[in-house]
Amino acid sequence: MKITFFGAAQTVTGSKYLLEVNGFNLLLDCGMHQGKRDIANQLNKKFPFEANKIDAVILSHAHADHCGMLPVLVREGFKGKVYCTAATTDIAKFILEDSANIQEQDALYYNKHLKEGEVKIKPIYTKQDVKKTYGHFEPVSYFRLSNQWTQLASNIRFKFYDAGHILGSAITLLEITENGQKKNLIFTGDLGRHFLPILRDPEFAKENAETLIMEATYGNKIHKPVADLEGELKTIINEAVKNNSKIMVPAFSLGRTQELLYVLHKLLNEKAIPALPIYIDSPLAQKITRVFNTYTSDFDEEFWEDFGEKGEKAFLFNNLIAVSSVKESQSINNKPGPFMVIAGSGMCEGGRILHHLKNNIEDANNVILITGYQGENTLGRKIIEGVSPVKIFGLDYQVRARVIILNELSAHADQKDLLNYVSHVTSLKKVFLVHTEMPQATVFKEVIIQKYPNVKVNIPSFGEVFEI
Ligand SMILES: [Zn+2]
Repeated sequence: MKITFFGAAQTVTGSKYLLEVNGFNLLLDCGMHQGKRDIANQLNKKFPFEANKIDAVILSHAHADHCGMLPVLVREGFKGKVYCTAATTDIAKFILEDSANIQEQDALYYNKHLKEGEVKIKPIYTKQDVKKTYGHFEPVSYFRLSNQWTQLASNIRFKFYDAGHILGSAITLLEITENGQKKNLIFTGDLGRHFLPILRDPEFAKENAETLIMEATYGNKIHKPVADLEGELKTIINEAVKNNSKIMVPAFSLGRTQELLYVLHKLLNEKAIPALPIYIDSPLAQKITRVFNTYTSDFDEEFWEDFGEKGEKAFLFNNLIAVSSVKESQSINNKPGPFMVIAGSGMCEGGRILHHLKNNIEDANNVILITGYQGENTLGRKIIEGVSPVKIFGLDYQVRARVIILNELSAHADQKDLLNYVSHVTSLKKVFLVHTEMPQATVFKEVIIQKYPNVKVNIPSFGEVFEI
């Protein structure tokens, strides 16, 4: 069999790996390239393979850089099934709709402001394209729940293990028989960490595997221990309530928002914080939070102790107010503090958070609570770096509100976790490091070779083909 790396190869976006086994073409992930618009558009414009020759897709999880190109695959003639967990199916639909929406808006804005000689751009796909992908999803349970393999062809079957990265994320174990010989391959997708709230920890495969395709985002880094999120939030909220502050939280709709709601609910139950109004002002975050309420079987022991055994829903509580219309969202600005408003987008690059910031950023009594990584050149990055004034909708605003950064809860394994995963794969011969950049990958390659000198470690480049 043969594998070609068509994305997330020496970079961290656009995951797409084509496995060819005796005429059966299996695509592992179908992710979108993200980053600077012109480069990303170029890479997303055309597949480096024929979509109608792909027989099936296995999707590791619902982040757009892993599932974001499915609508184009279908539009270009893909007829097969997209195998992923049920939670991934539900979340991916919302992520794809949101992605189409952003692209349509983006194209509209760009085309309205064209300079002479510039050509109009088209969205990579539309909401119509997204709808056509729905019929292709084929939900598959984790093996721990179903005890069943999924057969792709007479000689190819697979099972899913927990990846612990986001809700629904899965590690794929593929069993392939070629010339009467069985070969196993593990594809980690994005790998999570142990001891994070809500999700179960990543599982190790019970089978031997000769080949491992592994993410290595943090191949050169050891994370700080999982932060004392509860303690930090308790202090921030009690202080804010004392000062009647408005707490603005730029929201990451998938993962971080639910972690935050989980801890807030727990603190409320313990009476460690007062019941201040908490507005969730992001339609996408609300939709995804509803998916979380459906898949409690994917949650860890801690959830069952905190909420599940009492029959409580972790993401529903009395003072949590779901805001849907723009009018409702605007009306929050006239309300006195204390309150918390959680609104997209996470890096303050768009969405409703901009209105809340515009109205409240110049008041020293207010708080901006940053809960995740802020990319270069984003408004969020400027705010954490202490830039003032900042531009919001083209106007200057002084940053007087207190900026608090919650200890980052990365959802990716670090070097120690990654090496630990490698050490649990028996009979390992070949490792492919993907979803990583060269500096990180090079360090981690050395780390593996030092400990396992007989294992061959590759850092594939875009389009590189390997016989396995
Ligand atoms: Zn991911």
